Amino acid sequence: MDKLSALKKYFGYTSFRPGQESLIDALLQGRDVLGIMPTGAGKSLCYQIPALLLPGITLVISPLISLMQDQVQALETAGISAACINSSLGPREFYATLDQARAGAYKLLYVAPERLETELFRDFAKEAPISMVAVDEAHCISQWGQDFRPSYTRILDFLEFLPKRPVVGAFTATATELVRDDILQSLELQNPRILVTGFDRTNLYFGVEHPRDKDAWVFRYLKAHGEDCGIIYCSTRKNVDELYDRLRLEGISAARYHAGLSQEERQQAQEDFQYDRVQVIVATNAFGMGIDKSNVRYVLHYNMPSCLENYYQEAGRAGRDGEPSECILLFSPQDVVIQKFLLEHKEQSAALEEVEEANLRKLYAMEHYCRTTSCLRQTLLHYFGEEAPARCNHCSTCNGDYEEVDMTEETKSIVKCIHEARRPYGITLMANVLAGSRSPPPGWRRPVFPGYGCSEHSTTIP
Ligand code: ADP
Ligand code: MG
Repeated sequence: MDKLSALKKYFGYTSFRPGQESLIDALLQGRDVLGIMPTGAGKSLCYQIPALLLPGITLVISPLISLMQDQVQALETAGISAACINSSLGPREFYATLDQARAGAYKLLYVAPERLETELFRDFAKEAPISMVAVDEAHCISQWGQDFRPSYTRILDFLEFLPKRPVVGAFTATATELVRDDILQSLELQNPRILVTGFDRTNLYFGVEHPRDKDAWVFRYLKAHGEDCGIIYCSTRKNVDELYDRLRLEGISAARYHAGLSQEERQQAQEDFQYDRVQVIVATNAFGMGIDKSNVRYVLHYNMPSCLENYYQEAGRAGRDGEPSECILLFSPQDVVIQKFLLEHKEQSAALEEVEEANLRKLYAMEHYCRTTSCLRQTLLHYFGEEAPARCNHCSTCNGDYEEVDMTEETKSIVKCIHEARRPYGITLMANVLAGSRSPPPGWRRPVFPGYGCSEHSTTIP
């Protein structure tokens, strides 16, 4: 089988995306690669297709259990034998998986980097026919990256331990030079083919809106775009269900998609959308994998996602045909609270502190995108390590009118007032106090501020 037949047979796609072929060819020729491509560009295929065509096993090193499980599940659905070895396996499953791998049951085996250091895994690796090692999310190797993971720096040690050095591919969406050099050095890639594809999607308009009434905004938008089809992402299943119901009440033809629906319902929704039987699909981030619909004219985010990687991946489903399309995020401060809650309650592999911190940093970057008055495209491209002009003239901040106002004094007064209140009063009460209300609430410690934040007994703000 050749690479194009494998692409069609297993993944159902008819052509490669930019960069994919070049990386696949190099790996098949036994040459190391470093692939730097934006999120959603299709890096996984760059090692999955060679894995299918090369003899033996491909080890995929991946940082998160959820990433591994998603990929293994997608591969199995495509009829490719794959497995992952991670801390969620009990001892019996663990040994069984290794035994099966030894017997040649899997083409791809996903492992966390820490696993490579264990004696058990090394005993396995010494004997197993490993023809390729793919390092996914390779920026974790670098201290300069956001997600530094010390055991990634010891992958070379594992490669050197193997009786025969396999061909090595490294993949990341982080394009900064520091990270790139770290990857090349740390893995000692040999004469690698390095491929960087651009992150900018010039046909996409990026916007952030702060509507008071998100529903009203969405109705207006959909009515104005009656001919076009698009996706609306919500952060929770409940939001999906509610918005879906309201859209239908408004007479908008909509489908919905989330992991709480049955397999048949999801399949139906996906097909209705794919074949233009509905105008819009309301979905959680469970929707999108393997969707290849080129004429999606808009992607609206009803809620802010957890990070810009996810945002760019989801928004990037708009306009794959290169025609002008819009990616608009409807922000409310409540979204940040929800995302924080979701992060805190996320099941984490061994609750890695670094991962938690990185997730929080990513969330702040996402929030910054929603609040910035700088060019949105530049904010996105910088985040992914790419240079970009200060203005793109094709986003809501470049096209909007902004007036910058210094609110330092007002902010100080508010903080001071809250501090001196010494009790968790509600926002209305605080606002009244700050606005000079004459009727202090019961239990207020002493006469309140006579005016806008000018307490006589001002304490120092911590
Ligand atoms: P990355 O790892 O670069 O963020 P993925 O490998 O997860 O991206 O791929 C993103 C999406 O693009 C997946 O849904 C994948 O199936 C799809 N995809 C990858 N290659 C192609 C292709 N040649 N044609 C169409 N869709 C593709
Ligand atoms: Mg990936």
